[in-house]
Amino acid sequence: MDLKEKIRNVQDFPKPGIGFKDITTLLKDKDAFKEMVDIMADNLKDLDVDVIVGPEARGFLTGAPVAYAVGAGFVPIRKPGKLPAETESYEYELEYGTDKIEIHKDAIEKGQKVAIIDDLLATGGTMEAAVKLIEKLGGEVVSIQFLIELEFLNGREKFDGYNVESIIKY
Ligand code: IMP
Repeated sequence: MDLKEKIRNVQDFPKPGIGFKDITTLLKDKDAFKEMVDIMADNLKDLDVDVIVGPEARGFLTGAPVAYAVGAGFVPIRKPGKLPAETESYEYELEYGTDKIEIHKDAIEKGQKVAIIDDLLATGGTMEAAVKLIEKLGGEVVSIQFLIELEFLNGREKFDGYNVESIIKY
C-alpha cells in the first residue's frame, strides 16, 4: 500500500504558507494504520528495545501501538506542567524563542535500550531534545523512527551516528 496517499496535505495550517501533513487520514484507515505499525515494529525487531518514547501528542499515536507490537514499555514526553511526578526537562531553540519538553525522572533506567517514535521529522529540534533528555537519564537511544520525513529541511543531519528511519519522505 502507498501510505503517502493516506496523508492529507492541509495548506495554510496552522499559519499561512505552511503545508501541514495531516496523519489522521492515515490513522483512521485500518489497513494503513496496521501497515505503519508493522513497518516500525519490523525496523525494531532485532534491537531488543526496552522502552519506546513518544513526544506529545502525535508521538503517542505512533509510538504506543508500536510499543505494544514489539513488547516494549511506553514513555511519554510532554510539554511543561503536564507530567504529575518529578521531571527532567530540556529547553531548546526554535526559529523564534524557545520551547521545553519534560519526561518523568524515573521513566527510564540506566542502560535501558530506547527507541523514539514521532510522526514527523522537520528541523529535528524536537527529536534532538528528546534524545538529550533520554541520554540525561542514562538510556541508550538505539533507534529513531518517523512516519514522515521532510527531507528538504535536512533534519536528519542532527542525528549523525544514530539509526534514523522514516516511512514516508517528502
Ligand atoms: P521539528 O522539531 O522541526 O522536527 O518538528 C517536528 C515536530 O513538529 C513533530 O513533533 C511534529 O509533530 C510537528 N510537526 C511539524 N510539522 C508538522 C506537519 O506538517 N504535520 C504534523 N506535525 C508536524
